[in-house]
This record gives sequence, C-alpha cells and structure tokens, in this order.
Amino acid sequence: MWSIAAVCATKPAPQRNATAKRSASALWVLLSIADRSWLRHRVLPSGVNVTHIAPDLSDSKIMRFVCGIRPCRSGGLRLEPERVAGIDVVHNYGHGGCGVTLALGCAQAVLDSVRDKVGPDQGRVAVLGGGVTGLASARALLRAGFQVSVHASSFAGDTTSNIAGALWLPTGIDFPDPGPQRDAFNGYIRRSHDAMGELKGEKWGISSLPVFEPEFTEFHSEYFESGAINQPRPWTSEDGDVPGFRGGRVFTTYFIDTPRFIAELYREVVELGGTVVPATISSLADVTAIDASVVVNSLAMGSRSLFGDDQVFPARGLLVHMQPQDLGYIYHDGYRYMFPRSDALILGGTYEPGVNEPPETDEPFLEIIERHRARFA
Ligand SMILES: Cc1cc2nc3c(=O)[nH]c(=O)nc-3n(C[C@H](O)[C@H](O)[C@H](O)COP(=O)(O)OP(=O)(O)OC[C@H]3O[C@@H](n4cnc5c(N)ncnc54)[C@H](O)[C@@H]3O)c2cc1C
Repeated sequence: MWSIAAVCATKPAPQRNATAKRSASALWVLLSIADRSWLRHRVLPSGVNVTHIAPDLSDSKIMRFVCGIRPCRSGGLRLEPERVAGIDVVHNYGHGGCGVTLALGCAQAVLDSVRDKVGPDQGRVAVLGGGVTGLASARALLRAGFQVSVHASSFAGDTTSNIAGALWLPTGIDFPDPGPQRDAFNGYIRRSHDAMGELKGEKWGISSLPVFEPEFTEFHSEYFESGAINQPRPWTSEDGDVPGFRGGRVFTTYFIDTPRFIAELYREVVELGGTVVPATISSLADVTAIDASVVVNSLAMGSRSLFGDDQVFPARGLLVHMQPQDLGYIYHDGYRYMFPRSDALILGGTYEPGVNEPPETDEPFLEIIERHRARFA
C-alpha cells in the first residue's frame, strides 16, 4: 500500500558530486561564471533584439535537490459528494500534476456542493487537508459565511503543494472522456483561471509569463480546450531571442510563486476565522468524531487508504533548486522545465507514476542539471 507521505524529501545538493559530473570545458566554466545581465536588451549585429538572459547553471548556484509526490488518480479528479459512515463528504482530490492550477476553481465547485447539502451559509464544515486544495476550499467556504475547521497533519509550506513550481496549466491529470464530466472539468479550469486573475499581483505571487516550448515538445490540445488561455503560437523574433531556443512555440499563462501563494491562502483562512487543527486522521472514526455538518476531503494521497480509493496513485517528481534568478520567462518541454520562482530557479524534472520514494542516489538530479546545461550551452 502507498504511504500517505506526500512530501518526499528535500536535501542540500552535494556540490562535489555535481562538479564531478560536469563536463570539463574551460569555455563553459568561463561562461557560467560571467555576469550575463549584459545580454538583456542587447541588440546583436544581425539586428535581433536579445531580450532574455540565460540562466546561470554553474555548480555554485545549486542549492538543493527536491523530491515530491504528485497525488494522481486514474480517471482524473474526484470532485463529488458521497455519504460515508453516516456523514456527508464532498471529495476534492486527485489533482495530480496541476493542483495549484485547479485549486481555486475546484474550491468554488466544493462550495456549490456544500451549499446543496446544508443551505447557503449555515453549519460547520470540516476540511480535511492543509495543502493548496484544502486551503482554497476553506477560504471559499469562509468567504461564503461558513464556520470552517481545517484538519491535517501538515499545512501549507510543509505539503506537496509547496513543492509545485507552479505553472498554470492542466497537466499531469487524466481528462475525462468528452461529455458532461469533461465539460464540468473544463468549467473548473476556467473558474480557476478567472479566480487567479482576480488575485494576480505580488501579494499572492501570481504573474503572467511567456512560456517557450521547443518544436519537439509534445502538443496537448486538451490543455487549451477550455479556452482559459490561448493556444501556443509559432515563436517569432518579436518574442525575443531565448538562449538555447532554436524555434518552437510560445504561449502566455500564469506563473504562481507557490510559497507566497500558499502562505497567503493560509494567512487568509486564519484571518477569516478558520480553525486550524493539526491532526493525523487514521480512520473514518476520526472523521465522524469531528463536529461538522459536512466534511470536505482534500487529503490527496491520504484518500487512498482513508476512503479506500484504489485509483489514487503517486507520481514522483524530482526538481533541482538553483539560486533564484529573475529570468522573466519559462522554458517548458513537458516535464523538463525551468521556472523562475522568487526563492529558487527551479529545474524540472520527472514524472514517475507508481514511484513513492526518493531516489537512492543523486544521479537523477545530476542528469536534470546536465540536461539543462546542454540546452543552454
Ligand atoms: C515536482 C512537482 C511539481 C509540480 N508542479 C506543478 C505545477 O507546475 N503546477 C500545478 O498546478 N501543480 C503542480 N504540481 C502538483 C501539485 O503540487 C499538486 O497537485 C497539489 O499540491 C495537490 O494539492 P493537495 O492539497 O490536494 O495535496 P497536498 O499538498 O499533498 O496536501 C494534502 C494534505 O492532506 C494531509 N493529509 C493527507 N493524509 C492525511 C491524514 N491521514 N491525516 C491528516 N492529514 C493528512 C496532508 O498533511 C496535507 O495537508 C507539482 C507537484 C510536484 C510533486
């Protein structure tokens, strides 16, 4: 059985190993230590306006290796009410690789579902789970006037949610087959996007960034079918020269600085009067013992054992955190990506379904670094 541990591990990167793996090129070393800020807006002799700087991927910039577990579910997200052990439960889990993307829209659907059960703003609601999906639901319920308690073994910065980059894109999740469920899912995506737009700005750590995808990146039309964001278009020189990018596509989406976003969510839940209850929930008896008219289940991986859902599975994701670098763009090639978060330049990554443990060696992290170095060489 999968462990409920969602956050896998974070550890400082061993600098010497990384050095040993790096290809020994004197030119490369010189380039890596150079201050590259001069590249910004420099006009090359060809007339091409260089508007994006290259990342500095030298050993001295490596901060830590991070392993997280995406809470996935075969068949996709589960957002529906169920009567369990005599209580009304609204499930909201299985967000896979895009929980940050979906959290705000799903929270509104949770609110609709809770209102169906107990009326517009009456009663106590217990939210299980202190990650982004639980906190977003708690916030929506509190803003609607419900009394809310949030029960979890870890909150905000200590959850998988804090590991996410996060790119606003519905990736790493099964889309339902075309039909009413698919329509509902696209509805959550649109509502999420609208809600993100309302919070856009420094306070919540939400910005719009261009995403550059090289030509060979697999194209997923479903990511864009909700109409929330425009489809990628072919890159032109007017988009600016991007280091290591030799043509491809570009689109614009939100980038969420997760540590800021989730800290703000947590702060607002507390400010709105939500009660935070640190607790490990080991059985349904623990759930029924909570004094609430409705329970919202946002336990992510925990839903597998607690609510007996065998469709829940882990997908390991490995990241390398480099020193923060304000690049102003995202490089994205499926699960190989580079996000300029304010606390780290994040190098991705992997998507490993069924894997629930940190790697035994540093090798996979070093491969991530080498891949990015090759791209920006
Ligand atoms: C490497 C990586 C990169 C990612 N990148 C992105 C991205 O770019 N964009 C994006 O949108 N998403 C991304 N994601 C996905 C995103 O992080 C998840 O979908 C999201 O965090 C799920 O949120 P959650 O609140 O459902 O789960 P979690 O954050 O895992 O929270 C689950 C909560 O339930 C609690 N819990 C579980 N079981 C129990 C129990 N038995 N008792 C008490 N408490 C319990 C936990 O303590 C925690 O509070 C990424 C994930 C990873 C790992």
